[in-house]
Amino acid sequence: MKLFLFDIDGTLLTTDGAGRAALKSAGTDLFAIQEDLRTINVSGSTDTAIVQEILRHHSLEVSVANVNRYLGGYLVWLQQHLTTLSGAILPGVMPLLDLLVEEGHGIGLLTGNVRRGAEIKLSAHGIWDRFSFGAFGDDNADRNKLGPIAKGRAEARLNTKFQESDIFVIGDTPKDIACAHAFGGIAVAVATGRYSFDNLREYQPDHLCRDLEDTKDLLFRFGLR
Ligand SMILES: [Mg+2]
Repeated sequence: MKLFLFDIDGTLLTTDGAGRAALKSAGTDLFAIQEDLRTINVSGSTDTAIVQEILRHHSLEVSVANVNRYLGGYLVWLQQHLTTLSGAILPGVMPLLDLLVEEGHGIGLLTGNVRRGAEIKLSAHGIWDRFSFGAFGDDNADRNKLGPIAKGRAEARLNTKFQESDIFVIGDTPKDIACAHAFGGIAVAVATGRYSFDNLREYQPDHLCRDLEDTKDLLFRFGLR
């Protein structure tokens, strides 16, 4: 049995900008700031780290209270924006998830989204229930600390011990690659987000794919065929 840990945005689905829109709306709504997110590195960061950076950028106090208040507003706005900016599940994702489960592997989430944000985004496309464990942006602001948390939860849920070399971390940004390598997992980079294939190559993932469409090829690469 192998373990597959999936990132959300740009990997499983796109939200059509709803996540970014929600970050902006919450800032304006609660802190009266106009944040265009141009100087904030959103891709691959945890929601907690993004909000901390926004607060710092606007010289607001980076306190637990402010971070929680901002994230609370973000979640309300996320739900709101997802009604108009619906996004889509990315090509190949459903067949891949189906097959991995069918063949007895574990699938979970490893994402910078706070848990409730992940639930809102995945529920909008009816796939939240497919993941019974994961590590999230509210477990730790540092994405590189999330791998062992996801591993521990997977082991508890599936009652199986996993070697790091049997854990695949699938994501669309350099931060996903770093997060996989931080705990000895296998980094699978997929160029369906904001980073191009060539861009991602520079960060030396263990596997690099244009998308997740060729299920057969992916299983071969993962050593499952
Ligand atoms: Mg992503």
